[in-house]
Amino acid sequence: MSVLVYTENWDGKFKKSTFELLSYGKKIAQDMGVPMYVLSFGEIANDELEKLKNYGPDKIFKAIEGFDQLDNEVYASAISQAAEKLDATMVIFAQDNVGNAIAGRVAARLKAGMIAAVSALPISYDPFIIKKKIYTNKVFGHIKVNANIKVLSLSKNTFEVIENPSSAEIETIALDLPTAKTKVESTDKVTGKLLLTDAELVVSAGRGLKGTENWGMIEELAQTIGAATACSRPVSDEGWRPHTEHVGQTGKIIAPNLYIAIGISGAIQHVGGISSSKCIVAINKDPDAPIFEVADYGIIGDAFKVVPELIDALK
Ligand SMILES: Cc1cc2nc3c(=O)[nH]c(=O)nc-3n(C[C@H](O)[C@H](O)[C@H](O)COP(=O)(O)OP(=O)(O)OC[C@H]3O[C@@H](n4cnc5c(N)ncnc54)[C@H](O)[C@@H]3O)c2cc1C
Repeated sequence: MSVLVYTENWDGKFKKSTFELLSYGKKIAQDMGVPMYVLSFGEIANDELEKLKNYGPDKIFKAIEGFDQLDNEVYASAISQAAEKLDATMVIFAQDNVGNAIAGRVAARLKAGMIAAVSALPISYDPFIIKKKIYTNKVFGHIKVNANIKVLSLSKNTFEVIENPSSAEIETIALDLPTAKTKVESTDKVTGKLLLTDAELVVSAGRGLKGTENWGMIEELAQTIGAATACSRPVSDEGWRPHTEHVGQTGKIIAPNLYIAIGISGAIQHVGGISSSKCIVAINKDPDAPIFEVADYGIIGDAFKVVPELIDALK
């Protein structure tokens, strides 16, 4: 038996979420008394793979050829084959675009029980019961899985990074890949702008900003700290900002390290999309605004005065 963690790299680099994932997988492997194996696909420098050794793997397996197209079937087939070869009874993904697309397919192939968006270590292993967020993060569910093999995807920012240096070897794993059915002909990369769902820092503003003409200071604050920008739904409904920036129950669900909410009241539908943020800072002139109930830090004040002062201080 083993725990298998699938790691994703971005242009050959791992992110903090990868190390969270390994720390989580290691704790489960220790609880189960089995090894943790790590899987990496595609072109990546050995120096970068070496970084994974800090988080306790017993072995790191890599496969390079055949992963240049993000074809779900190729990835799902490869991960399932690796799980079978390594006798994995627990396969762990990050809950991100890739995890969402592939984890379910792997679970179907392995005839496993699939639990998406888990947010803590298992409550018990026999029977297997684990906690996950449900109803747009409003409540926790305790999910029991009877299947022998489990596939989990871990919500971002729900587990700490724990260093656990190991002397794991890096080995190439031979996999029989199917032919990719899809081919990406070209990609248009948005440059100079952070993808909201990937961003570690997010500056977000709401109707308190009064109009599109006042977003200059929001963008400046975001640029100053290297954050992505987001907004509440009425803001995108009014056309002040694009719909791609709207967060909440009907928008994007994000979990950055820092979420700064400016002139946002904190309606339950908004909070549903941001409540997994590690630290929430609210700036609002109304001391009774519900956003202060979920904020870790609050500034009661006029955004038009506070934000420029904040930018000056940060600069
Ligand atoms: C089915 C459904 C789904 C929804 N989905 C979403 C969703 O996904 N995301 C979402 O965001 N909303 C959603 N909503 C809307 C939600 O209920 C709220 O209406 C919305 O979040 C409010 O946006 P807001 O906080 O920007 O505006 P408001 O509620 O108008 O709040 C503006 C805030 O700005 C403060 N303010 C005003 N002037 C200043 C100033 N100068 N300085 C500092 N603070 C100031 C005010 O005190 C106030 O708290 C949904 C609603 C429904 C019914």
